[in-house]
Amino acid sequence: MATPERVAELSDNLDAARARLARACTAAGRDVDDVDLLVVTKFFPAADVRALIGLGVRAFGESREPEAGRKAAELRTDTAESLAFHMIGQIQRKKAKTVGRWADRVHSLDSERLADALDTAVAAALDDGDRHTPLEVLLQLNLDSDPDRGGVVVDDLEALADHVAGCDHLRLRGLMVIAPQSETPEVWMERAASIRAGFLDHRPDAVEFSAGMSGDLDEAVRNGSTCVRVGTAIMGARPIRSP
Ligand SMILES: *Cc1c(COP(=O)(O)O)cnc(C)c1O
Repeated sequence: MATPERVAELSDNLDAARARLARACTAAGRDVDDVDLLVVTKFFPAADVRALIGLGVRAFGESREPEAGRKAAELRTDTAESLAFHMIGQIQRKKAKTVGRWADRVHSLDSERLADALDTAVAAALDDGDRHTPLEVLLQLNLDSDPDRGGVVVDDLEALADHVAGCDHLRLRGLMVIAPQSETPEVWMERAASIRAGFLDHRPDAVEFSAGMSGDLDEAVRNGSTCVRVGTAIMGARPIRSP
């Protein structure tokens, strides 16, 4: 169990993050209900997630298998609330099998091969009764063509969307971006927003836009984000470096 001090810290940080998101929405002339706050709990223990559930959080972002799958299974077993677990990190294809069991949404789909692997995994999980819904997916857009960052380059975006549309157990919901470090966040978020506008002409239903983290939440909200993924600002510094 999280200590009372840890619960108080998470509670304060969560309040501050919610207030910051509300201010960002107001400044951007947007409704705060239009932007989800996804709390990124990667590298933090299930006890912290349990504390957050106590504070009213129901959706969590994770990025590492098998740690993520283990946490999701444990929390779903001992919590009555209905929880959503989102996979936000890069997925090695051999890990798709387990991600397809626990993830409600994948933010980091970036290749046809991964789409096929997830589709197969979800089909198996549905067959086994391990899940009951299709997998929601966002296509991760690579903004600067750095292959280490993951994501699909803009020229391949529509082809990947068409491929996903042909996968029986995947539901395309939108796009995800991670702003590179070069340039200011505003530059990248504006670029992402303009690519998204073109993409929406092609896929009008894919309205979700996962953009913004602890460091660039304001710029992301200004540029149309519908989901900010906040780790450090709520959880504190991660115990070990993230991939
Ligand atoms: C870790 C991570 C986050 C959270 O980043 P913070 O800067 O800690 O808020 C958001 N998105 C992705 C894809 C991540 O891997």
